[in-house]
Amino acid sequence: MKKSIDFFKNSDYISQQMELLIAYARKKSSPFSAVVINPLIERSAFAVNTTSKDGPIHHAEMNALESYYQKYGKEDAADLILLSTAEPCPMCMAAIMWSKIPLVAYGVDISFLSKVMPQILISAQEVAKAMDRKTILAGGIKEEECQSLFRK
Ligand SMILES: [Zn+2]
Repeated sequence: MKKSIDFFKNSDYISQQMELLIAYARKKSSPFSAVVINPLIERSAFAVNTTSKDGPIHHAEMNALESYYQKYGKEDAADLILLSTAEPCPMCMAAIMWSKIPLVAYGVDISFLSKVMPQILISAQEVAKAMDRKTILAGGIKEEECQSLFRK
């Protein structure tokens, strides 16, 4: 796997996975949706935001991480990708960093989200930069389709 920002921006694979995630979000009627994927062995765990049912920390990314590790156990995160319909908030981005997932791609960014609902205005990139890991972040993947999830 070519681990670079170009990998995301030009990757048919990432586009296809984001389309699957958007379809999942529509099916679940949840704009906030995320998936952890190991593309090498075709494992994945999809999740939605469940804060109204499970409490305030159950963002889609937190649930996807939890689901992935519950399904497959602990594994080397070096090959994992996390996709989210929205830029991970500081809590989720920190969880992603602690999980050592090196590749993160998302649809809408935090400035878009802040117009829809209150946000902690710290970008995922700022959180990533605060730790010395070479996490690659790519936003704007299928951005318009992701925005449409939040406009309903
Ligand atoms: Zn979050």
